[in-house]
Amino acid sequence: MRREKASKERLLFAISVISVVLLVSTVVMPGLAAAAGEEKSARAPVLDVVATVSVLRDFVEQIGGDRVSCVALVTGMENPHTYATTTADRSAIEEASVFVEFGGEAGPELEPWAQDLLDSSDNGGLVVCEAASGIPLIEDNPHVWMDPENAKTMVINIEKALIEADPSGASVYRNNTVSYLQRINETEERILEEMAPYSGMKVIASHPAFLYFFNFIGFEQVDLLVDVPGQSPSAQHVSEIIDEIREENISLIVTMPQFPTPVTDQIREETGVRSVEITPLLGAFNTTTYLGMLEYDAGAISLALSEGSRGGDESGASPVLMYSLIAIIALVALGAAATVYRRRER
Ligand SMILES: [Zn+2]
Repeated sequence: MRREKASKERLLFAISVISVVLLVSTVVMPGLAAAAGEEKSARAPVLDVVATVSVLRDFVEQIGGDRVSCVALVTGMENPHTYATTTADRSAIEEASVFVEFGGEAGPELEPWAQDLLDSSDNGGLVVCEAASGIPLIEDNPHVWMDPENAKTMVINIEKALIEADPSGASVYRNNTVSYLQRINETEERILEEMAPYSGMKVIASHPAFLYFFNFIGFEQVDLLVDVPGQSPSAQHVSEIIDEIREENISLIVTMPQFPTPVTDQIREETGVRSVEITPLLGAFNTTTYLGMLEYDAGAISLALSEGSRGGDESGASPVLMYSLIAIIALVALGAAATVYRRRER
């Protein structure tokens, strides 16, 4: 009798515990989730921002968070230098609160179409942010954002513009800027550590887009594969490049998917030089953020160079060999284990 009562009590206790758990999970949790959702939808974007390119859009989103909605006019694999603007671009600017361009010394080279677009758009209250304002050019090269030190200047210029357009969000923009600058610092440290073994390396690039990145990681750009971006190099220039690679001990050609340079294959075959494809624009190689892009680029360079130092000429062959070996070892181990198991069973 007593035992039966005790077990009934235990059963009741278990049922009530389960009920409480179910109640919490069915009533309270969705409530919490709904509350979080409401909070999110209550924070509808305050500022509509138009940026010229995706890297600038990323900066705006890092600083503006939920308070901004930002579109980039040039996205993906388009060439910003020769971008053709559309009437939709003008409408976007006319409906925006802030326009973010490189501007400064870099702007006219990078986005020669931006000023005309602004002039033809009717938006008296628009805050125009020249993100690259105050950044000095090296050798008249406009690709300033590829040095994260310059990115910091750009981020601070964008922060000022967002505060000007939306003063009530100032504390949000300031806090986000502080933490983003901190993340840039951390990324810089990681990349410099990764690149340290290759400091002083001489490289040839297919396009001027990486000069600032090379300066940052301590590489020396000896020459460019093409004189005019988008064009193929002359046969004479190719033979000059081949001579340079041999005479100056150049170990790497750096190309970008936005401007394919098939001649790289020929140069590689003739000289044995390594080559790597990296990107100065978001979109290629699934890059979605500026810092992710820098990490991708550094990682790809480091991979290309470490494959080179192992001495294997066919870089594709060694991983295949390694995986085959691992597979064979695994099979042998499985066979041995199966034999031992069968013996024990007997
Ligand atoms: Zn360029």
